[in-house]
Amino acid sequence: MSTSADAGTGLAALYQERILEHYRRPRHKETLVGATGTHTVKNPLCGDEITVAVRMTGDRVDAAAFTGTGCSITQATASMLMTLAAARDVASLRSLGEAFDAMLHGTAPVESLGELQALVGVAAFPARHKCARLPWSALFGAIDASRAP
Ligand code: ZN
Repeated sequence: MSTSADAGTGLAALYQERILEHYRRPRHKETLVGATGTHTVKNPLCGDEITVAVRMTGDRVDAAAFTGTGCSITQATASMLMTLAAARDVASLRSLGEAFDAMLHGTAPVESLGELQALVGVAAFPARHKCARLPWSALFGAIDASRAP
């Protein structure tokens, strides 16, 4: 049992709690009505498989949802990302994706990532980076599918 009141440890615990909460009660884990594009990606390393569906108008994602199974990192990232993606345009999502990648590589998280900042701890576990990136890959795949002629 730790007797330290270290702020860093407290923050890590808070983030851990956030991740587990999304894992247990994922948001937007459903079949999306009126989807214009879907995409499935797999991470054989830990058995994650996720399908993201988007409903788009022009360059804007009106709504996004996911289905599939996987580890807590993949599921929590997907849950947070679907919330973040709604009502955003593609350019904004690409720049957030870059900010998320930078965070995984040790850059301090930017506030515009919202709840996804809770994944900052994954930076220390390179083997799990793929889990955290999986929902992003599925989202961008779904966006590309939606925009394809
Ligand atoms: Zn995983």
